[in-house]
Amino acid sequence: MSDPNLVGMTTQHSTGPQHKPVTLLGLGPMGKALADTLLEKGHPLTVWNRSPEKADGLVARGARRARTVAEAVTASPLTLVCLTDYDTMHKVLEPAAEALAGRAVVNLNSGTPAEARAAVQWSEDRGVDYLDGAIMVPPPMVGQPGAVFLYSGSQAVYEQHSEALTSLGDPRYLGDDPGLAVLYNTALLDMMYSTLNGWLHATALVGSANVPAREFAELALGWFMPVVVDYAALARLAPDLDAGHYPGTLSTLVMNLNALDHITRTSEEQGVHSGHPRLMKEIAERAIAEGHGGESYLAVHELFKKATLSKEETSTPLP
Ligand code: NAP
Repeated sequence: MSDPNLVGMTTQHSTGPQHKPVTLLGLGPMGKALADTLLEKGHPLTVWNRSPEKADGLVARGARRARTVAEAVTASPLTLVCLTDYDTMHKVLEPAAEALAGRAVVNLNSGTPAEARAAVQWSEDRGVDYLDGAIMVPPPMVGQPGAVFLYSGSQAVYEQHSEALTSLGDPRYLGDDPGLAVLYNTALLDMMYSTLNGWLHATALVGSANVPAREFAELALGWFMPVVVDYAALARLAPDLDAGHYPGTLSTLVMNLNALDHITRTSEEQGVHSGHPRLMKEIAERAIAEGHGGESYLAVHELFKKATLSKEETSTPLP
């Protein structure tokens, strides 16, 4: 063994049984967390990164640093990809396509469903077994309980490499449509940003009267969100969303429009940004115009399901 990195291969950190070898392409913050976890769980690990020095610490702990992508992918039956995006993945994998043929690739970078489906086509054309994935947690949570990883596409690849995928976290297979993992990922991030914006805008609103965020947080996050908004109750109403059934028994969309109008006008009065509440108000107004005024607020779901609402809206898009 003349390569000193290969000597490092003998030093694994797990005292448990030897796991299957894994190759990892990409050592950004997330790739580094994946690599640390794989080493900790006892997988013989080969890594490649555009900036090779980022592997120094991993090599010291027993990983092997490959000089080329082709060398990296031939070291293991499974290659994990964690690069910036799909374009980067194609740029990195294309020169190694021949070496990849007959091997499995699990891609973990973020993107769109169309990009995931295009990656499947790219792989099929080159005889590569491909599974698409998405990581739902930040780097420090990788390998910890509750670290959900989403996968979709080839069930065969998912099952064949489930041991390595389980080392990274809690794997969830969503189905054979390869676009589903990144679609779920985007949908969950959509919900996260909307919720964060709600909290941040509300904090700016009370902040306009010099209320500190730490004081508002107790009522807003400690009581209002869990008790009044009540995510468990929303989950119980999910079948109604599937059925398009929004009974306005306790409050109607028209009543909610009143509240959205007050939030918009109060924002203006208090000198805080009113674009966010105005957009919510316009969406509710459009739902009412479409005949949902007597239903509950959840009826705005009917608008969100459409790309456009009417001929007029295609010429005057929402701000
Ligand atoms: P990142 O900045 O998105 O990706 C960095 C990696 O991509 C590095 O390995 C970098 O190489 C490589 N790279 C970028 N351009 C390249 C190119 N033209 N050629 C070759 N390699 C290139 O950082 P990250 O946080 O590790 O994220 C990786 C993926 O995980 C992303 O798709 C991200 O959306 C997803 N993700 C991240 C998080 C998070 O919290 N970080 C959470 C969930 C999902 P160099 O080191 O040489 O620059």
